[in-house]
Amino acid sequence: MDLLLATTNSGKIRELTGLLAAAGITAYGLPEGMVIEPPREGGSTFAENAAIKAAYYARRLDMPVLADDSGLEVAALHGEPGVRSARYGGDETTFDEKMRLILDRLAETESSDRTARFVCAAALADRKGNIVNLTIGTCDGSIAEAPFGTAGFGYDPIFVPDGFDLTFGELPSEIKDGLSHRSKAIAEMLPFLREFLAV
Ligand code: IMP
Repeated sequence: MDLLLATTNSGKIRELTGLLAAAGITAYGLPEGMVIEPPREGGSTFAENAAIKAAYYARRLDMPVLADDSGLEVAALHGEPGVRSARYGGDETTFDEKMRLILDRLAETESSDRTARFVCAAALADRKGNIVNLTIGTCDGSIAEAPFGTAGFGYDPIFVPDGFDLTFGELPSEIKDGLSHRSKAIAEMLPFLREFLAV
């Protein structure tokens, strides 16, 4: 059985389909010009928002859905942008602007603490919209002095994972896939997912 991913974010789709394909699961994202109105992500945690998205699309489309809600938490900014990562600095701002905003706000704090982490909540809904599994993965690291590299998506150019001197924007995708928040959340769900989809 194939699996629908509750996202139109091409970066997430690329990473999730790759991680799932390696486990023999075919997944695909929502089509870009999706006619179904997206749900309001009104939760205060990644887990709540992942569950909202998975349940919503499963009910609307009558099929199992996997949702990923994720974001960047910067310690010296009290966990911002957090669940607002996609909307930080306004819906219309580019990721270059969002990254600049984080760097500027960090500079304003005058803190030397550049610790940050990526968080990913993965929620699986059955075709009736019941959440049957939910996992969370995190990836610890720090915020670079400036954006570097063009690989990945979103905040990748300013995130340096622990143990490396380069950002996710500079590191090859295989490295990110080996240690990312997303790969950890998916790895934890895989045994359940395999059984659920009878792969
Ligand atoms: P949402 O899960 O749709 O609310 O949006 C998550 C947002 O967090 C994305 O649009 C990115 O801005 C950011 N994000 C999540 N995961 C990653 C990642 O792996 N790299 C870079 N940015 C990410």
